[in-house]
Amino acid sequence: MGAGFAGIGFAIKLTQRGVRYALIERGASVGGTWRDNTYPGAACDVPSLLYCFSFAPNPDWSRSYPLQAEIRAYLENCVERYGLGPNLRLGNGVAAARFDQARSLWQLNLDDGSQLLARVLIIATGGLSRPKLPQIAGLEDFKGALMHSARWDAKVPLAGRRVGVIGTGASAVQIVPAIVDQVSQLSVFQRSAPWIVRKADRPVSAAARARNRRRPFRQRWRRALLDWAFDLRVLPFTRLRASLPLIEPIVALKRRLEVPDAALRRALKPDYRVGCKRVLLSNDYYPALGRPHVDLVTSPIDRIVADGVRCADGQLRALDVLVLATGFYGAEQGPPFPIEGRDGRALDRVWAGGGEAYLGTAVGGFPNLFLLSGPNTGLGHHSVIAMLEAQFGYLIGALDWLAARPGAVLEVRAESQQQHQRWLDARLARSVWNQGGCKSWYLTDSGRNTTLWPRSVRAYRRALARFDPVQYKTSVGVPQSPQQ
Ligand code: NAP
Repeated sequence: MGAGFAGIGFAIKLTQRGVRYALIERGASVGGTWRDNTYPGAACDVPSLLYCFSFAPNPDWSRSYPLQAEIRAYLENCVERYGLGPNLRLGNGVAAARFDQARSLWQLNLDDGSQLLARVLIIATGGLSRPKLPQIAGLEDFKGALMHSARWDAKVPLAGRRVGVIGTGASAVQIVPAIVDQVSQLSVFQRSAPWIVRKADRPVSAAARARNRRRPFRQRWRRALLDWAFDLRVLPFTRLRASLPLIEPIVALKRRLEVPDAALRRALKPDYRVGCKRVLLSNDYYPALGRPHVDLVTSPIDRIVADGVRCADGQLRALDVLVLATGFYGAEQGPPFPIEGRDGRALDRVWAGGGEAYLGTAVGGFPNLFLLSGPNTGLGHHSVIAMLEAQFGYLIGALDWLAARPGAVLEVRAESQQQHQRWLDARLARSVWNQGGCKSWYLTDSGRNTTLWPRSVRAYRRALARFDPVQYKTSVGVPQSPQQ
């Protein structure tokens, strides 16, 4: 389920192994988050070299940090290059999934009313697909144009208009500098200030791209080096948390240099440890806020009214366009559609207190179901594609095991899952994400971190290097033939 980075990458692996599969996507095209997020300035804050599959390198990145349109084009190209088309079903999502115990098959009800049977169900629907609207009174009263960053409407004119942006996360810091030159007045509503570091972004010359094509090993070793260097960055967020107060003044130097106005600089000072929320990369966000027609509003929003936003300071910021860069349902997110496992277990009830999965991939009570980008597999220091690739290898191991045993079922043992969860919770309890004095989308309302992996990518690769059936209850059923 899901033809974003996870689904496409795994479909390549399945195609290469000759596995019969369907890649089901509710949208009309592939690309997942990189299809949906088309706001001005949308780009990735992970270097291009790490933001593609190691088995499908891209010599043609135009910049050292890729742009949304080229990441989307890369994924579309992967579909073509690896011949995924015949297995791809676009424009028809899964409405509900139920494990049929008698037949040991997953029964999928699709949006168009049709049904599908599958031996194995793989959820690759991602964590950033459901835009979160802010809980602000009067949102429905606004009479101007209102849009969430992930549902950008390019037809809404911005030129010469008064625009408001609510939020100062990864999306907002890209939108604000991208639109600042067009608008007549820009109000940025900040609830908490982000930590921002330099983005070492530069164009990749045509000559360098040609070299990449001629000598692919050049990109391979540079990627290996970057992979290793980036992985070290997990240490200050976890084991070496004590180093963060030493790092903060260095990061703050950028603010000093780029924000000459002392009052604005004070307003932009984060009140939590660096790394607690995602550290943002930008070279033009601070300069944009310093422009005369830009207003950083730190007074809390009181309510939204027909012609703008009223804040606790009593002022009305009159607006023509209001952008909600308010993020996604993350940590508290349940499954993407109702999923019923063994003995009528509903995944949303099992996950009511936050998502849990053995190694982020398997959930007790849900046989032959696996997750890509499942709970606690996100990163704050490296590329999530590195995590996906580890999951691909592990899942292929599980599928090989199943392929050798027609009709058999794999269900992760409750003890294995609980032991993994205890280990995760203990590790995360000491991390900056849990202890850094902030509330982020990494945490559930009750403060559980169900989003991030607390160690290096290397450690995750080691944990998933080999599929170990000992961690699973296995049963050999009657061989069935799933139809497609
Ligand atoms: P986000 O990080 O969740 O930020 C949401 C922003 O909206 C925060 O500043 C939040 O304030 C603010 N907000 C939410 N509700 C509000 C309310 N009721 N009143 C005022 N402010 C409110 O969302 P995002 O920027 O869309 O990013 C989400 C994730 O997407 C990122 O962490 C990242 O993983 C991914 N992303 C990645 C890239 C990339 O370059 N790779 C780019 C964009 C997004 P508080 O901070 O006070 O909660």
